Amino acid sequence: MRPLKIERRIKYESEVNPNFGKEIASMTGGEDLYSCIQCGTCSSTCPMSIYMHYTPRRVIAMTRAGFDKEVLSNNTVWLCASCYQCSVDCPKEIRITDVMYALKRKAIERKMYPRGFAVPALAKEFYNAVHRSGRSNEIHTVTKVFLKTNPLKLIKNAVMGIRLLLKGRLQLKIEKMEGDPAEVRDLLDAVRKKRKGLEEAAANNH
Ligand code: SF4
Ligand code: SF4
Repeated sequence: MRPLKIERRIKYESEVNPNFGKEIASMTGGEDLYSCIQCGTCSSTCPMSIYMHYTPRRVIAMTRAGFDKEVLSNNTVWLCASCYQCSVDCPKEIRITDVMYALKRKAIERKMYPRGFAVPALAKEFYNAVHRSGRSNEIHTVTKVFLKTNPLKLIKNAVMGIRLLLKGRLQLKIEKMEGDPAEVRDLLDAVRKKRKGLEEAAANNH
């Protein structure tokens, strides 16, 4: 009989990041983090919670407790489908979906994603493509995502990709937006700058 593998689940205070909760609460979307009463309504109403490593309620509790590595490297925030059901049902009117977005941004900033998980890479590649040319091109974005996360999957999906190309559902040529892509770029940069300013001001007030 194989010996049972025992995993240490105890986390000592010296291993957590005591500022993590405040960091997220000072981000756009994370403002209501400390209003949560841990009732669990969001977890029971969330259609994705059965697939998540941690339920939304637990993610909020762990964020406040400073479990930054666990929160940022689990799949919960990336599986959130932004359906807003939790936000509608929350008795404290917490915009949990927006908390998830704040955590996604923090995960991208710290490059801490679940290993081989495609969604963070997809979010990043999609943003980069729109920032560069005003719109994303499916085949280029998907190829980059597979190369970054699971190149074997690219080979496995090649036949389907060729079929879609033949049926005209995918295009090799990079489509361009009408108008000047620099306008979209300026808009995205302005939003990013504004958000950064707001978050810095909020962090200084904490
Ligand atoms: S429903 Fe709202 S108050 Fe209840 S656990 Fe979820 S976030 Fe917290
Ligand atoms: S917005 Fe995200 S966390 Fe909230 S119920 Fe929908 S999938 Fe779940």
